[in-house]
Amino acid sequence: MNTNRRSFVKATATLAAAAPFILTARAQEPQRKLGVALVGLGSLATNQIAPALAKNTRLCKLTALVSGTPEKLTKWQAQYGIPATHCYNYEQFDRLKDNPDVDIVYVVLPNSMHPEFTVRAAQAGKHVFTEKPMANSAAECQQMIDACKQAKRRLGVGYRCQFTPHHLEMIRLSRYEVFGRLKCVEAAFGFKIGDPTQWRLRKALAGGGALMDVGIYAIQGMRYLVGEEPVSVQAFETKTDKVKFAEVDETITWELKFPGGVLAKGATTYAFNGMNYLRGLAENGWFELGPQAYGYGGLNGRTSKGPLELPQVDHFAAELDDFAECILKNRPTRASGEEGLADLKVIEGIYRSIAEGKAVKLG
Ligand code: NAD
Repeated sequence: MNTNRRSFVKATATLAAAAPFILTARAQEPQRKLGVALVGLGSLATNQIAPALAKNTRLCKLTALVSGTPEKLTKWQAQYGIPATHCYNYEQFDRLKDNPDVDIVYVVLPNSMHPEFTVRAAQAGKHVFTEKPMANSAAECQQMIDACKQAKRRLGVGYRCQFTPHHLEMIRLSRYEVFGRLKCVEAAFGFKIGDPTQWRLRKALAGGGALMDVGIYAIQGMRYLVGEEPVSVQAFETKTDKVKFAEVDETITWELKFPGGVLAKGATTYAFNGMNYLRGLAENGWFELGPQAYGYGGLNGRTSKGPLELPQVDHFAAELDDFAECILKNRPTRASGEEGLADLKVIEGIYRSIAEGKAVKLG
């Protein structure tokens, strides 16, 4: 085992020790749940995050709303019992600094808007949780990290998978070398995108296409299974619908090389359904998630020894409770701004490799 891998195993011991802590109820709960302001009341906020905050979180709850649509604010106020004094539009956003019921601002806007609202939230003295991808460039990620550091506030990214028993088990199997040394990782996530007018297909708002939106899960998976930062990447792109995907990528495949010798093969697409897996291939066996590796409707997987029988959890409640616990216990989060930045560096390397038509160095 090289020094790098040894330190990862050590880090994972902490992770594994933390896992039951994250996923089970504790005897002693804090007096007050931390208050969360949701910024952007779109599909994810409506269908996943608000219900998780209403039903499943133990350490935080919904206390304020930010939206540019007055009708949504009215509807949500009634549905979640939020007073009018705790509802803001984007211009009034900075007034959050005067609201003691808000501890965490959760940014659930189109990707290009994450940096502005993260920086403004930090400047308003709030901890910030932002959806993935953290931003459209590594430079913006760094600005967000710096703003939160300067304001002495925590920054988390919506990497919900890392808080599920399935992904935690994959990390454990890899880092503890349960099937021997990891040799290869295969990861892919894609789906057939609908509405051609949506912001996900506009480069200015989305930053890119499938890679930015869902390929990022496969990159995360590769990085947390291997436990190292990749040193080089070679990527290929194909575009079968040049009208729909005029501004953003449609289908990309890539290979990452890690310093310890692991090779990782990845793919992402907006053109078809069915690509949804994370696979570790080791000296003495394999372990994988799929055909549902990243969705929040239930995960599944198996190893070369048999099926993975693990509980399903509310991904959004798990990630938010972990972030709240990090604040309450003053410990760092795994889904940190630095994690978001590391993924954006890989994404930029993938785009650079495609543009230059050759393998490029990372880091
Ligand atoms: P959505 O389009 O349903 O919602 C976006 C919200 O932003 C809407 O309420 C919209 O009114 C508002 N908005 C403000 N300015 C806008 C503008 N200029 N253009 C478009 N909308 C604008 O999107 P969504 O699916 O809720 O995604 C929001 C964020 O959450 C994205 O960053 C996305 O990557 C992320 N997301 C994460 C997951 C996950 O599993 N963690 C799943 C889906 C989306």
